[in-house]
Amino acid sequence: MRIAAINHRAHLVLDDGAVDLEQASGGRFRSDLMEAIARADEIAAFAAQSELVGAPFDVLELTCPVPRPSQVVAIGVNYADHATEMGIDLAPEPVVFTKFPTCIAGPNEVVTLPNNTVDWEVEMVLVMGRDAFQLTEEEAWDAVAFVTVGQDLSDRDLQFAAGRQFALGKSRPGFGPIGPWLVTPDSLPNRDDLQLTCSVDGEVVQDGRTSSMIRPVSTLLAEVTQYLELRQGDVIFTGTPSGAGMGRTPQRYLLPHETLVSTIEGIGTITTTFVDGR
Ligand code: ZN
Repeated sequence: MRIAAINHRAHLVLDDGAVDLEQASGGRFRSDLMEAIARADEIAAFAAQSELVGAPFDVLELTCPVPRPSQVVAIGVNYADHATEMGIDLAPEPVVFTKFPTCIAGPNEVVTLPNNTVDWEVEMVLVMGRDAFQLTEEEAWDAVAFVTVGQDLSDRDLQFAAGRQFALGKSRPGFGPIGPWLVTPDSLPNRDDLQLTCSVDGEVVQDGRTSSMIRPVSTLLAEVTQYLELRQGDVIFTGTPSGAGMGRTPQRYLLPHETLVSTIEGIGTITTTFVDGR
């Protein structure tokens, strides 16, 4: 099952288009995306029982599918090749930071570049289907309602200023675009082995597989929830493979008018563009 925000209203995405969830269900479900995430199982049952006919839509009408997460958790250095390129030693504990929720944006975001050190990181993003604390590895995937594509955009100057300011450097407006829609893990070819790529103006800069994660989803959720209570609708960025601009020789960062395209197999593609705010 795929659920999208189209002009900020929850829609079921079908092979032939999309249907407005509130209208198609006669008001049983509402248009709010956070409510749709909370009621994902009921919506899946409704969709399976109903003869729904989709209507075409423009991808530019897609808006943020998780508009109000209470927390956004991000995992650092979860791919060994990215740790190497960033010069970060692997620790036995997970590297966890937050992106403040106000940076979360949609799949067609136009981001203002504050300086010359804004970098890309394509990541698989999890959306929690229920509150979760101290999950076992066996329980972990069942607590995930949806996955989606995300970009963990980072202002590297700010991120590494005054020691480490990950939360600030990764939370400027628009620095957490996600989308294009929400996909249930059971509709993926293999939820633990998906290709993820990103390109800048058509040049592929990242090309990895989620099966290369140091901590796969089940492990990282079990570890993070040992310490942190997650809430339904929370968003988890699961780390990026190699190819970030900071790790390149020479380093490369995003420029005004460049287009960043991020894709995960079985989920979809988001497109982020940049304007000059320097
Ligand atoms: Zn990241």
